[in-house]
Formats: sequence, structure tokens, C-alpha cells
Amino acid sequence: MKKKAKEYENEIEYLLKTRLDTKATKELKFSEIEDFPRLSKTIIIENIIFGTYQYNQCQKYYEDLLNNETCYLISEKSYESRNNAENTKIIAFEIASRHKRSEVKKFTKKKKLKFYKVFIKYVPLLNEWRSIKSYICNCMSGRKVVGCCVHVATVLCFLAFDRFRNIRIKGKHL
Ligand SMILES: [Zn+2]
Repeated sequence: MKKKAKEYENEIEYLLKTRLDTKATKELKFSEIEDFPRLSKTIIIENIIFGTYQYNQCQKYYEDLLNNETCYLISEKSYESRNNAENTKIIAFEIASRHKRSEVKKFTKKKKLKFYKVFIKYVPLLNEWRSIKSYICNCMSGRKVVGCCVHVATVLCFLAFDRFRNIRIKGKHL
């Protein structure tokens, strides 16, 4: 594992420099992403996020996801020159920072918030955890080699299984 980590280089790191509001991306709603791998909570916790702590943190972010369904499909043209033998897709989400939530409530304008960019590369319609090929986020822990940051975990858990159940959002009445 140590050796592997040392050699590890995130293949989609170049995307962190990508702006999401350009012609190279297509804006869509996450409900339109119908080919994301369907995985169980157990499978994601055991193989990708390693533990329930991250998963429990995710719940706080779902409200933001449900309030803003926008996500982006990264145009294949922008990376098709790279190796894409598995017909992978790359999607991007912007996840608002949970820091200083009081400010979030005060400023509903997007530009006032700090957003993290999450990119996930997956093999469409392949319902096994290995179809999550890579992921990255531009937060402090977004380049983790083992596990992932809470923003990546949020998108993964939401798309892979939680959106198919009725999500009760804690504190929504507040
Ligand atoms: Zn992150």
C-alpha cells in the first residue's frame, strides 16, 4: 500500500484548473445523471470512503445538493485525447463549504459563498465500486490517496444510493 501511494498520481488532477462555466462543460441537473453506478452504502463505506464518519458528515451537505441540482458534465472532447478505453464520464459538482453556516444563510448569492469543486470519473452503468475510477476535490483534503474528502463522499453517496430513498434533512425546519 505504501509503495502504491508513493507512485500514485491522480489522473484527473488537471481538472482542478477547469472552470465549470465554459463551453467545455455541459450544465445539467443531477437527476439527469441516470447512468451513475448504483452501489450500496456498505460497498461505498468499505471500499471508497472507509468508515461511517464521512458518511454521517455527508448528511449535512444533502440539503445544499437538493437546493441546487446543478452539476456539470465535462465535455469528452476536452479529455478524449487521454486514455478513455472504458468510455468513462466525468461529472463535476460545486459543493458549498459548511464553514460559517450563518454566513451561508445571510448570503444566498452564489458568489458570496466558498464552493469546492468535486470531479468524479466513472464508468457508466457498471454497478460495482471499481467503476468509480477517480475523484478529486479542491478542498484541503481533496487529494487524499486513501479514502476521500467529505465533498467527494457526499456526491458519491448521494448519486450511488441516497437519492433513491427519501432523505430527511436534519434541521431543515430551523
Ligand atoms: Zn473536498
